[in-house]
Amino acid sequence: MRKPENFHKIDNADLIIGSVNCRIDVSKEGFFVFGEGVGWNNVVLFEMNWDKDQYNVKICVLGEGNDGWYLHENLPIPKSLMKTLSSFKEFVKSNILDVANKVDLMNIKPNMMGITELDAVEIIHTVASSSGPNVSYIVTENVGGVRDEWNCTCPAFMYSKATPQTCKHIIQIK
Ligand SMILES: [Zn+2]
Repeated sequence: MRKPENFHKIDNADLIIGSVNCRIDVSKEGFFVFGEGVGWNNVVLFEMNWDKDQYNVKICVLGEGNDGWYLHENLPIPKSLMKTLSSFKEFVKSNILDVANKVDLMNIKPNMMGITELDAVEIIHTVASSSGPNVSYIVTENVGGVRDEWNCTCPAFMYSKATPQTCKHIIQIK
């Protein structure tokens, strides 16, 4: 896809993720996300490869530019979320919650996993059903603010015998 025309407009945009106020800083490679006033010594760099429709998530050290390590590489850019500022913020939010689940953003530990305490926020995803173009299901992540608690409105989830219950829509989002 082409780089969205209004991409520069997200520069300096604020968004609240969990209980943390985050700021977006557009860069040459894509954009950084900072946590403001919470003692995060790491920043998250999203390298946007518009030509290949892919992005990387890189954990960088605050004030050290692009130095860091890759948490994810070559993820598909969800084009539908690139259309408006609010949908773009949803994209950023779900990515940062994923990062916070995996990485300690407070302390600089190269290539180390850990967890950043963020109050989990319910995230609603709409997933198209593979059985028909006009059917979609609602996948809820962090149900009731419980981290990694999932729900889906599809029948397969309701009848899932797995513990915890799951379905292909949840797996797709994970
Ligand atoms: Zn489902």
